[in-house]
Amino acid sequence: MDRKRVFRFAPSPNGYLHLGHAYSALLDFDLARQCGGRFLLRIEDIDTGRARTGFEAAIHEDLAWLGLEWEAPVRRQSEHFDDYARALERLDDMGLLYACDCRRSDIARAAAAKPNWPHDPDGAPLYPGTCRDKPRRAAREVLMQGGVALRLDMRKAAALAGQGLSWREFGLGGVAADPAAWGDVVLARKDTPASYHIAVVVDDALQGVTDVVRGKDLFAATSLHRLLQCLLELPAPDYRHHDLVLDETGEKLSKSLASIALRALRAQGWTPADVRRRIGL
Ligand code: GLU
Repeated sequence: MDRKRVFRFAPSPNGYLHLGHAYSALLDFDLARQCGGRFLLRIEDIDTGRARTGFEAAIHEDLAWLGLEWEAPVRRQSEHFDDYARALERLDDMGLLYACDCRRSDIARAAAAKPNWPHDPDGAPLYPGTCRDKPRRAAREVLMQGGVALRLDMRKAAALAGQGLSWREFGLGGVAADPAAWGDVVLARKDTPASYHIAVVVDDALQGVTDVVRGKDLFAATSLHRLLQCLLELPAPDYRHHDLVLDETGEKLSKSLASIALRALRAQGWTPADVRRRIGL
């Protein structure tokens, strides 16, 4: 049995990599090297409306410039929609999915009309469940229709998973998962037939990932990932959510800040050693 630990860096090719990505990638790579483990690159290009092959090529270039090496072949999520469809099908067979044709503006309006409307950890208003009790339709059929989303029935899903769902977090030990904080999340729609959440748990399991090392901005989403892992009977990796790299003003780096893209820094004469020094690795 292969007991090597498996780390992965999983960028979305919808912009150039910046110092924040460099932190995740280098930390993943260094940790894999330190324990004699494996390091994988995964291209998270399920959002085909935003992903660009040009950005994907740049990811390869920038990571190679940083001195990283990864295993071939690289998994590109857009080539594996069947794997995510199978997972959705399974949740559907368990009666956990429903079709929702509410528009984002309907939800925003409902939320604005009531004080103290609950919001998810990313700040979006929770879905009020308008479509939850409508007659059920098969997931496969729903995904053939534009403008309709497949949502997870969180109450049913959380009840099925039961109490005591948790994950192991570096530096913290066991963390209690709180998937209900996300409400009835969208897991698929016609134009994006798998959400990030479903694709990430399926891929981490299929690739045998043992250690998920990524930014703190995904800490809260881990509750949802643990719930999906539990429902789909997938193994739970260990997690390490690192601090985000901040810019000089203490603000979070963003892909839209082209000035701190790794390739812009490279053009200004930065070396990979300068990058490591700037991010403290
Ligand atoms: N694709 C995600 C991103 O670029 C990261 C996913 C993950 O590491 O779980 O933000």
